[in-house]
Amino acid sequence: MEAKEKDLLRGGQFLVKETNCEDVFTPEDFSEEQNMMKEAVMEFNDREIIPHKPRFEAKDFALTEEVMRKAGELGFLGVAVPEAYGGLEMGFVSTLLVCDYISSGTGSFSTAFGAHTGIGTMPITLYGTEEQKQKYVPKLATGEWFGAYCLTEPEAGSDANSGKTTATLSEDGKSYKINGQKMWISNAGFCSLMIVFARIENDKNITGFIVENDASNGITMGEEEHKLGIRASSTRQVFFNDTVVPVENMLAGRGEGFKIAMNALNVGRIKLAGACLDSQRRILTTAVQYANERKQFKTPISEFGAIKVKLAEMATSAYAGESATYRAAKNIEDRIALRVSAGNTHQEAELKGVEEYAIECSILKVAVSEDVQNAADEGIQIFGGMGFSEETPMEAAWRDARIARIYEGTNEINRMLSVGMLVKKAMKGHVDLLGPAQAVQEELMGIPSFETPDYSELFSEEKEMIKKLKKTFLMVAGGAVQKYGSQLEDHQQLLIAAADILIEIYMAESAILRTEKNAKRFGEEAQSVQIAMSKLYLYHAVDIIEEKGKESIISFAEGDEQRMLLMGLKRFTKYQNYPDIVDLRNEIAEKVKTENKYCF
Ligand SMILES: Cc1cc2nc3c(=O)[nH]c(=O)nc-3n(C[C@H](O)[C@H](O)[C@H](O)COP(=O)(O)OP(=O)(O)OC[C@H]3O[C@@H](n4cnc5c(N)ncnc54)[C@H](O)[C@@H]3O)c2cc1C
Repeated sequence: MEAKEKDLLRGGQFLVKETNCEDVFTPEDFSEEQNMMKEAVMEFNDREIIPHKPRFEAKDFALTEEVMRKAGELGFLGVAVPEAYGGLEMGFVSTLLVCDYISSGTGSFSTAFGAHTGIGTMPITLYGTEEQKQKYVPKLATGEWFGAYCLTEPEAGSDANSGKTTATLSEDGKSYKINGQKMWISNAGFCSLMIVFARIENDKNITGFIVENDASNGITMGEEEHKLGIRASSTRQVFFNDTVVPVENMLAGRGEGFKIAMNALNVGRIKLAGACLDSQRRILTTAVQYANERKQFKTPISEFGAIKVKLAEMATSAYAGESATYRAAKNIEDRIALRVSAGNTHQEAELKGVEEYAIECSILKVAVSEDVQNAADEGIQIFGGMGFSEETPMEAAWRDARIARIYEGTNEINRMLSVGMLVKKAMKGHVDLLGPAQAVQEELMGIPSFETPDYSELFSEEKEMIKKLKKTFLMVAGGAVQKYGSQLEDHQQLLIAAADILIEIYMAESAILRTEKNAKRFGEEAQSVQIAMSKLYLYHAVDIIEEKGKESIISFAEGDEQRMLLMGLKRFTKYQNYPDIVDLRNEIAEKVKTENKYCF
């Protein structure tokens, strides 16, 4: 189905516009081709990765490289790459799908895969000249070469534009000499090519270069880092000592590096969310299988309410994560298609398409990376003492999950970015926050309706609740902007609270819309457990939003204003009919127990 401009929400607009369930893409909408791809990738994971888990945990770096090469031979490294450069050009949803289902075996492989296909390759496909793309992308798409991305330095982490690595133009103007030190570079140990960011003279912004990995050209590597998790993912420092790079290897223009770095990270963020999804499914499946078998007090532990809570919550967060990730992925794909049909080159279209949804990419990165960590944590708990043992897969899953909250921009940075970008979009007029925020102000001054609405239709109360949660965001963020104006960025605790509200709205709405769409086509009965999960997710979202809203309002408003806003918050987070979440959890857990796996 071709999306039309008027139907397609802009990035961030989900907050102020209602979305029809028919307009969201769900995993149940995968095409036959996508389902075949999913099967192929799952089979690859089951054959090439899962059985070798102990070797990955024993830091077998050569195995990571070998499996990457096999993935290349099967075309998995080139899913997103245009056919003209040796890839499969399968679209953004398929790219996400491959990332999702190839990543659950071990974080070591998924990091190598993500670093290569995302930040190692995308800067060239998105910003490269025709010559650069012809020269490098086919090798990267097939796995003949592997890519790495050198942005971080010892003193430049989150403050990525502050790097000290320099690039100095030669006297004949034909090449640059790169000098500096990069650290935490994934794939460093086996890459053939690096995207390196360096500063020319006293430029405000860094510049990107494509640098071939050649030890005879002043490139040396540190030892492999000893890490908490992703143990067979190669991570090293890289030193450049008068490394000569021809001028034609500059990416985009001088000083464009920071923009490249940020846009590559946008793609990386949604892909990282995708990469955490199948891990969540697999963790739940492993946990429920154990819980069904393990008996204590002559009873399978899966019968205990304390374990059912965990199973239900793990299933629910995985379901919401899937719903939101594929919803955003399809928005990006549609936006790219729209731009291509409007005459943009594929390269421009892809760049702008992803940039448009940078807010959603940050939201997803934060939400799903935290969900997978929670799932692994509860997975360990379900396994009890065995969960703490290296012999069961939970401890590695937990260690591997931890990095997702740190790289591709820490979750703190992504939280602040999501709200910051939204405020910027509002200022540019891309998303009208002001009008809706004023409407909320007026509503707060008015007398609330005492009518009892009819909530008999599926999700009618939940959708009303989502509308109210959106008002909560507008009330909180609007109030904070009014109070602090451009100084808002100095109030990080407020920004983080606002981001949490934003995240919960997007995730809860995505789960509800997916289920509503599926209930319409497959029937409510067939979606009974999905309905329960959507309601359970929303219930928690409301709680979180109430808490974050309260702390924010108290921090920036006083006296009558504070009282009015707190009353508004109460109104906007109040159910008419509270869901019985114990019943909901029991229903979800029962299904997972019976199916003995994540089955949605
Ligand atoms: C295993 C691994 C693989 C990696 N792979 C790569 C790679 O391939 N290429 C690459 O370039 N980099 C890579 N990185 C680096 C990674 O992107 C950085 O570690 C990350 O961006 C954070 O930077 P930092 O470690 O310097 O932490 P810092 O920036 O020092 O942050 C420390 C803490 O302070 C917080 N903080 C920092 N600034 C602010 C602020 N303004 N406001 C509020 N809080 C703030 C952070 O959120 C964090 O909690 C990798 C890291 C690891 C551990």
